Amino acid sequence: MTRPILVTIHAAALQHNYRLAKRCAPCSQAFAVIKANAYGHGLLRVATALAEADGFALLEIEQALRLRQAGFRQPILLLEGVFSADELPLCAEQDLMPVLHTPQQLEWLAAAPVTRPLAVGLKLNCGMNRLGFLVEQAGEWLARLRALPQVSAVTLVGHFATADMPQFGIDWQWQRFQTASAGLVAPVSLANSAAIIDYPACHADWVRPGLMLYGASPFAERTAQALGLQPAMTLSSQIIGTQTLAAGAVVGYGGAFRAEQPMRIGTVACGYADGYPRHAPSGTPVLVAGQRTRLIGRVSMDMLAVDLTALPQADVGAPVELWGTQLPIDEVATAAGTISYELMCAVAPRVPVREG
Ligand SMILES: *Cc1c(COP(=O)(O)O)cnc(C)c1O
Repeated sequence: MTRPILVTIHAAALQHNYRLAKRCAPCSQAFAVIKANAYGHGLLRVATALAEADGFALLEIEQALRLRQAGFRQPILLLEGVFSADELPLCAEQDLMPVLHTPQQLEWLAAAPVTRPLAVGLKLNCGMNRLGFLVEQAGEWLARLRALPQVSAVTLVGHFATADMPQFGIDWQWQRFQTASAGLVAPVSLANSAAIIDYPACHADWVRPGLMLYGASPFAERTAQALGLQPAMTLSSQIIGTQTLAAGAVVGYGGAFRAEQPMRIGTVACGYADGYPRHAPSGTPVLVAGQRTRLIGRVSMDMLAVDLTALPQADVGAPVELWGTQLPIDEVATAAGTISYELMCAVAPRVPVREG
């Protein structure tokens, strides 16, 4: 018997969620965003489950090459572009689509000895102020790019900073993009998951769903279930020990939790070295034997404690779900003061993965 912690990836949920994104944006093609090891779900595992995707988007050229070697022929968008000039001939040869977001990247491209011209993204800063050229200068940069023999096609790429916050929305960026790009004839890609769900007007030619593919909600106020999404990851383990506490006893490092009355607690084989957030406080929901209970005390490197007082039948070997099909990852993330994105991406390499 191995250590009981396990992450289960639900391929059918990935497919369901991709199709839901496509139904939200029926006139657009979709780059399935599989950066960060597909948000912790496994690059090739997710690409295989989403073989029907119109395209993929990720960061590192090495990961894009893994997709090509595995036989994926779709467009692959490199969301941060290239990091050195020598990546450009490889992009051309392997038909990868880097975004260009700095003058330096354009200089590299203009000097690149490419065997055939490549499709690129022109990354535009519409107010997020993270990457890209000022959207008001889109026309100039587009003309410069189109004049290069190295370039076969240009897609305009923007990103929304507050699509997940209905109180701010996207209008402040969307208006600016529309005004600045009026008259430019080029395919456009703007929408992340939140914009795909809430703002059909900005779907344009290519949408870029990330989080929603993995079955979590980009919105604080709406659950994944209410959006029709299915969780693609379950992190599970087991109770590996129990303790009976007298009133006043403390639990774990720092004695951070103190029992007010006699209690029974269980120790779960899952800690921050598995990717469970160390900052999750006492009270964070945990599912034991299908019933909700709460985390107590500090999360250790390899273990955490749960309250079993109301679960007398739960003993060593009882199944524990940290998040997944029965306990939404968004709830755990909120309790821990973070977002589901971070929890998914943080699942540690030492946790065995299976599909199911
Ligand atoms: C990560 C990312 C996405 C996907 O965002 P989600 O909120 O996960 O849907 C889309 N576009 C860019 C540029 C990104 O970096």
